Amino acid sequence: MCPETNGVEAAVIAVGEELLSGETTDTNGSWLGRKLAALGAPVVRRWVVGDDVEAIQAALSAALAEADLIIVTGGLGPTRDDLTRPAVADFLDLDLCSDPQIVDNLRKRFRAHGIADLPASNLSQADVPRGAQVLTNKLGSAPGLLMEHEGRSVALLPGVPREMRGIFEDVLGDVIRDRYEGRLVPLVHRTLYTTGIAESVLGERVDEVRVGLPEDVDLAFLPSLRGVSIRISTRSRADAAAKLLDAAQAVLEPIVEPYRIGMGKRDLVEAVAELLTKGSHTLAVAESCTGGLIAKRITDFPGASTYFRGGVIAYADRVKLELLGIEEAVLVETGAVSEAVAAGMASGVADLFKADVGVGITGIAGPGGGTSEKPVGTVWYAVAGPGGVRTSHGVFSGDREAVRERASQAALLLLYEMLETGA
Ligand code: ATP
Ligand code: MG
Repeated sequence: MCPETNGVEAAVIAVGEELLSGETTDTNGSWLGRKLAALGAPVVRRWVVGDDVEAIQAALSAALAEADLIIVTGGLGPTRDDLTRPAVADFLDLDLCSDPQIVDNLRKRFRAHGIADLPASNLSQADVPRGAQVLTNKLGSAPGLLMEHEGRSVALLPGVPREMRGIFEDVLGDVIRDRYEGRLVPLVHRTLYTTGIAESVLGERVDEVRVGLPEDVDLAFLPSLRGVSIRISTRSRADAAAKLLDAAQAVLEPIVEPYRIGMGKRDLVEAVAELLTKGSHTLAVAESCTGGLIAKRITDFPGASTYFRGGVIAYADRVKLELLGIEEAVLVETGAVSEAVAAGMASGVADLFKADVGVGITGIAGPGGGTSEKPVGTVWYAVAGPGGVRTSHGVFSGDREAVRERASQAALLLLYEMLETGA
């Protein structure tokens, strides 16, 4: 997949010592990456530099050699470490002149905040490189600036993410559209969400059908603790892009279909919610190793009160016995992490809350507590419904958080499957 030869390429330079030390994450870079790709001017390289004139100029020099559009964020403030404006003006050999309109706006802004005299240090924020376009900042004091240099565009935006985004959304995006009209080729993508299949297995199956994919699409596998998504992307104009994505999806559909949840919904909980609502079922959960994670995920979804009765965090054996009615003999014989206990928890909590469907889950999240017979990550889960009880188990990998996430996903998947088959 090659961009057209006269396509527009962008580069982003993030300025700030705190970005290098790791105190602040460069979210401006990732946000601009997404926005510029969607606009049709993909970011081909990013730099992160400290508050240092030489470093800013070196990055700018490299960026000008590589990209048509360069966006620099940060270092436009009034303090001594804010050096972007003079560093860029000096490199592009442009004088800095104070803009009376910006000075006036700054005065008004400070007066509105109860400060009668504009601090002298803020005057630097009114300095504009000769010929630069001023990009209004509705959310802060420093405006953005846009310059042309030997056929390339250089934009300076504040570091504060809210202000940077505001200027991009209000003005810069449109200015880029006008300036590069006819040369922008947007990146369009579609995501197929899957759960219950390992990334490597999914990758191998996709490899078998890869020859059938249109040439101009790219695939990316995006694994998370809840599943693996396949992102299909293409750089094409809207109508052509839709056709390419449809064609690619048709090739992948037979592979992902068994692992797609709720007609491709992003979140399994949303798909479960839909089935519970459709069947007018109520739900209750009894959780041990997930400590309430399943209940949290269910209640994260708005409108859960219509079908979700409640849950019990049955951590101690006594709670499993006294509240959920599991027999002591079963606990002693099979141990707390077992099929019988998961099943008992699911039916017990359904009875306790007078719910149609109950979920039970018990396991060893680690890092301690594992045995050779039941290693860390062993989790039993069960769903009890009007048609009976279904159980399953897994040995989930990863740290405590990963085991709990994966286990909650597996239990919700079993619930989904049971509701979908009407059992
Ligand atoms: P100000 O006028 O507030 O000084 P500025 O343009 O000088 O704005 P900075 O001083 O560099 O910007 O940063 C202001 C704030 O924005 C800081 O809290 C900083 O951590 C944050 N910030 C700066 N750059 C980025 C970035 N690339 N990603 C996310 N946050 C950033
Ligand atoms: Mg600053």
